[in-house]
Amino acid sequence: MLQYFKNIISGLVTPLQGIKITTDHICKPKVTRRYPEQFDPYPILPETERNRLDVNMTKCTGCQMCAKSCPVGCIKIETVRAVPTDTNVPLDENGKPKKLLVTQFNIDFALCCFCALCEEACPTGAIHRTPIFDYSSYSREDLIYNFSTFSPEEVEEKKELLDKFNAEKKAKEDAAKKAAEEANPAVQDE
Ligand code: SF4
Ligand code: SF4
Repeated sequence: MLQYFKNIISGLVTPLQGIKITTDHICKPKVTRRYPEQFDPYPILPETERNRLDVNMTKCTGCQMCAKSCPVGCIKIETVRAVPTDTNVPLDENGKPKKLLVTQFNIDFALCCFCALCEEACPTGAIHRTPIFDYSSYSREDLIYNFSTFSPEEVEEKKELLDKFNAEKKAKEDAAKKAAEEANPAVQDE
């Protein structure tokens, strides 16, 4: 019998508590915003947020540590060795010409699981998370970002320079070897 009256009282008090909470919040400023209409200022996100990555190509050395640590293999990096004859080599963060030119740095954000292991593996802090989360697309291809600063024409130019440099180097080595053999035929006979 006592439980019966307790249930009646609880049934009356509970809605009153709900009404009090509602009336308390009616006069407070709203915390929800319409997206994407009300998108300014950009939301302040917690430190642990996992969003789109960015790559500082000045800091990037092309070491591939990030690509090797990625569990889903969504980072694809291609590099071309800079040659001494190239007068247009980008500088690193210390102002020195880069030794490796990162001609492709693709991240497929359709595959990325935002684990941030790449960020942890990067020795220079080049790859890092950003607060950007609103980058959805109707096309999977649009989610493949290339962070390389080289245009396709420049990539071809760098590859040609390297091929030319290697060919000239080999020609010089062959000529030196031939000259050594001619100067000392005994070496050739051995
Ligand atoms: S956050 Fe994880 S899944 Fe995404 S690119 Fe980095 S290592 Fe790969
Ligand atoms: S982002 Fe970092 S880990 Fe990845 S290639 Fe560049 S320097 Fe290496």
